[in-house]
Amino acid sequence: MSKDKKVMNELKSLIYTQLSKKYNKCLWPKSDCTKDCINAHSIQNSQILDQLASNNHLIMAVHRLNLDTEPEIEFNEVGRNKATTFTGLCGEHDSQLFRPIDVNQFDSSNEEQKFLIAYRSVLRELHTRIKSARDLQTTYQKSAEAGMWDSKNMDEPFWKAATRPIINAINWYQYKQNYDNIYNSNSFTEIEHECIRIERNCPLAVSSLFDPIKSIIGVEIPEQKFIVFNVFPQKKDTIILLSYLGDHQKDLRPYADEIINASGEYQLYLLSKTILRYCENFVISPDHFNLFSQQKIDAIKNFYLATVTQIDIDHNDKNLMLF
Ligand SMILES: [Zn+2]
Repeated sequence: MSKDKKVMNELKSLIYTQLSKKYNKCLWPKSDCTKDCINAHSIQNSQILDQLASNNHLIMAVHRLNLDTEPEIEFNEVGRNKATTFTGLCGEHDSQLFRPIDVNQFDSSNEEQKFLIAYRSVLRELHTRIKSARDLQTTYQKSAEAGMWDSKNMDEPFWKAATRPIINAINWYQYKQNYDNIYNSNSFTEIEHECIRIERNCPLAVSSLFDPIKSIIGVEIPEQKFIVFNVFPQKKDTIILLSYLGDHQKDLRPYADEIINASGEYQLYLLSKTILRYCENFVISPDHFNLFSQQKIDAIKNFYLATVTQIDIDHNDKNLMLF
């Protein structure tokens, strides 16, 4: 084996090992907590996942990391206690924080409930970003220590790749602090929400967020403005909850309006494309997914993958309807 190939193989092995490690840090906002984290659900378990699961399984987009090929995904069955969970809260703080939305039915006039649903999405996303920054940093350090490259002579693309997720995680941490402050002061109305109820059975659930301005302009901007995006079933209806910081409302409202002002089948189609374009943290009911044709699954998979590298790619295809 040539020396380069040996170094590449060692590096790949480091990356795979690092990615399989959990990042355990309780993100409880009131004090520094060092307790072990649990697999906390980012989508409500006893009401929402319960309604969607079949034999305790749900369908999720599962990313397969293969460093030798293009990114790959499959829509696979995932166990309910693994689906959409993150190790960002200890058991005590997870239940303390989210009790109001875990034990009560969703009530769209309750500001605390709407805040907590959005907060849960923010915590999961921050946890994911910190983990990827840590993974990249660790892999970089270990590979430099192993002499795979000279850390004093970094080539620029690698340096960018190693630092961007860290800067990203710091920006995220600052964004999450807005939510921490609101939680700590019970000032829930500082978050603006648009909530719509559609009288239609909901076969999926989403807990995510996206920055539509950055995605469309495609440039790095100093302050990211996120729409926190939740979709979930409540009995026989579909609930859409779009949330943003009050200060960001003016800039984000036009993007939210596109979804809110649509109606009927087109609204659900628009929602489907928004989910596939911006979100990875969503589950689909297996009973519903199993009705999809192979042609439909391929169309969904291709659109999902294409928008990973080119976020503004667009075309119309009725196969992208997830409802
Ligand atoms: Zn804790």
